[in-house]
Amino acid sequence: MRADACIIGGGFTGLTAARHLAEAGARVVVLEAQTVGFAASGRNGGQIHTGHRMSQAALERWLGHGHARDLWNLCEESKALVRAQAAAFAPDAPVKDGLIIAAHDRTALRELGEETDYLHQHYDYTAARMLCAEETRHLTGADYFGGKLDMGGGHLHPLRYARGLARGAEAAGARILEHSRARSIETGDKAATVRCEAGSVTADHVLMATDAFSADLAPELAPYIAHVESFVSATAPLPPEVNAQILPTDAAVADTRHVLDYYRKSDDGRLLFAGREGYWSVPSDVTPIVRKRMLQVFPMLKDVPTEYAWSGTVGITVTRLPHLGQLSPRVFFAHGYSGQGVALSSIGGKLLAEAALGRRERFDVMVRVPAKAFPGGPWLRKPLVAAALFAFKIADAF
Ligand SMILES: Cc1cc2nc3c(=O)[nH]c(=O)nc-3n(C[C@H](O)[C@H](O)[C@H](O)COP(=O)(O)OP(=O)(O)OC[C@H]3O[C@@H](n4cnc5c(N)ncnc54)[C@H](O)[C@@H]3O)c2cc1C
Repeated sequence: MRADACIIGGGFTGLTAARHLAEAGARVVVLEAQTVGFAASGRNGGQIHTGHRMSQAALERWLGHGHARDLWNLCEESKALVRAQAAAFAPDAPVKDGLIIAAHDRTALRELGEETDYLHQHYDYTAARMLCAEETRHLTGADYFGGKLDMGGGHLHPLRYARGLARGAEAAGARILEHSRARSIETGDKAATVRCEAGSVTADHVLMATDAFSADLAPELAPYIAHVESFVSATAPLPPEVNAQILPTDAAVADTRHVLDYYRKSDDGRLLFAGREGYWSVPSDVTPIVRKRMLQVFPMLKDVPTEYAWSGTVGITVTRLPHLGQLSPRVFFAHGYSGQGVALSSIGGKLLAEAALGRRERFDVMVRVPAKAFPGGPWLRKPLVAAALFAFKIADAF
C-alpha cells in the first residue's frame, strides 16, 4: 500500500495521530498488531493526571523556566484534548472530573501541598486544593495522611475511549488494519517502508506509536524505554452500603507510593482497583495479588468477590517524562508516558501528526527534554531496572 503516513500502533497515541493527519487531508494507514486498544490504552486505570511526573519546580531547575512552562502548557492542552476527543468520538466514555492524589506519609503530603501552592502561584492553576486526612477519608473511604483533590484531573473508560478514537480516525478517512504486526521499517531518502507478514506500506512518514514495545521494532530505542506490568482488578458491583462509603463523589484515586494504588468506580458500580506490579513475568492469575492489597486498603470489601483481573504493560523512561524523537528523517516516535499516558498520549499523538506535517516546533519542545539511558547495556539492563523498581517497592514499606 502507499500512504502519506503509516502509523504503527493502534493505542491512544497512534489513533490520535491518525485522526489529526486524516483531518489534515493525509492518506493514513494504521497498523495494529492485535486489535485497537489491546495494549495499555485498553487496560489502564483511566486516570487523567495533571502535569508530568516531575514537579514543575523541578522541571524549571532542570530545563529552565521557559522550557518547563512550554511542557506545562502541552500537558494542559493534552487534558483538554482528551475531554474534547471523548466528547466528540466516545460518548460512552465521558470524562468524569476529579482525581484525588492521596498521601501515604507526611513527606508526601508536604510535597503535595508545596506543588499545589506552586502551581497556584506560578501557573495560575486553581483547579486543585489540598484535603485534610478526614476529608480524604470521607472522599475515598480509606485512611491517608491527607491528599489533593484535582478537579482538572479525572477518569474515563479507557477501552471505550480507544474504540471511539478509532471511529473518529476512520470517519476522517484513516485506514486501520488490525492483526497487522509491523516486522521492520526500512527508511530511504524519499519514503519509508513498513513490512508486515501479509504486505507492506510505503509512506512519506512512519510514526511509531508502540510505547512499551518500541524496542522490539527499533532496538536502538531499547536503552530509553523499559516496561513494568501493572495489575488491575474489578470487584462485583458493590452492595449499596459499601458503595456509599467508597468514592461517594465518584472521583478517582492514585496514592503517592512508588508502586502506587490507583482506583476508581465503574459505571456499573464495581471498584476497579490496581495496586501491584510485576517486573519479570506475569502470573497466570493476578487476582490474589491485587485482592490482598485491595483488602489492606478497603477491609470492608472482604465479602465482595473480585470478578475480573488483568495486567498491562506500562512503558517507562528514566526521567518519567515522555520520550519523543526521530530515528531518521522519515521516522518519528513517541512513547514512555510512564503511567500518565491517558492524558499525555493525546499530545504525543498530536505532536507526531504535526511533525509529519512539517510543523516541528512543538514536537521539538518534547525532543529537547534530554532522554537518559537505563544503565546496564543489552544484558544487564533488564535485571538492573527490575532491581531498581523492586527497591522502590521496598522503600514504600518504610
Ligand atoms: C495496567 C495499566 C494501567 C495504567 N493506568 C494509567 C492511568 O490510570 N493513567 C494514565 O495516565 N496512564 C496509565 N497507564 C499508561 C497508559 O495506559 C499508556 O501510557 C497509554 O495508553 C499509552 O498509549 P499508546 O498508544 O502510546 O500505547 P499502547 O496503548 O501500548 O499502544 C501501542 C500499540 O502498538 C501495538 N504494537 C506494538 N508493536 C507493534 C508492531 N510491531 N506492529 C503493530 N502494532 C504494534 C500494540 O499492540 C498496541 O496496541 C496505564 C498502563 C497500564 C498498562
